[in-house]
Amino acid sequence: MIDQKKIEQAVRLMLVGIGEDPAREGLRGTPERIARMCEELFGGMHEDAQEHLSRTFSVNTSEIVVEKDISFYSMCEHHILPFYGKAHIAYIPDGKVVGLSKLARTVEVFARRLQVQEQLTGQIADALMEYMQPKGALVMLEAEHMCMTMRGIKKPGSQTITLAKRGVFETDPALEERFFRMIGR
Ligand code: ZN
Repeated sequence: MIDQKKIEQAVRLMLVGIGEDPAREGLRGTPERIARMCEELFGGMHEDAQEHLSRTFSVNTSEIVVEKDISFYSMCEHHILPFYGKAHIAYIPDGKVVGLSKLARTVEVFARRLQVQEQLTGQIADALMEYMQPKGALVMLEAEHMCMTMRGIKKPGSQTITLAKRGVFETDPALEERFFRMIGR
């Protein structure tokens, strides 16, 4: 679990480090606020996607299921700055589907921790394959990284796009094309 006291100490040190006075009025509550915020931003570390993805319903089709434009917010592990955007998920059921909100919940489980976008994309796809056992899964993330836009090379609006394909999506390019058409790309 998250150690709030350690985070508060670290934030106080950081404030001193940048030349601030942690005792001034505006900053007095900041270490505690950040510690509480960390519970939310990094809460996915203590959650398991299996909880969401193992509640399945039986179906007798194996038609593609696509959930697009799932908003997500994550934190890049290199700068501890946000990256955020949209997730698009497709899978080919093999007798089982999940409630659509469970796909969004799965994105949350892996987004709410320190991440690298490529890894986040793969972890969502792997969880779908492991806990739902579809014939295939495809995850696409489009995100803007604050570490690219407010610092460093400062390219606001630039999007990083990542893709993870598993199962039949790896072997059947027509399925991938179908996915892109369905999400309007
Ligand atoms: Zn970064």
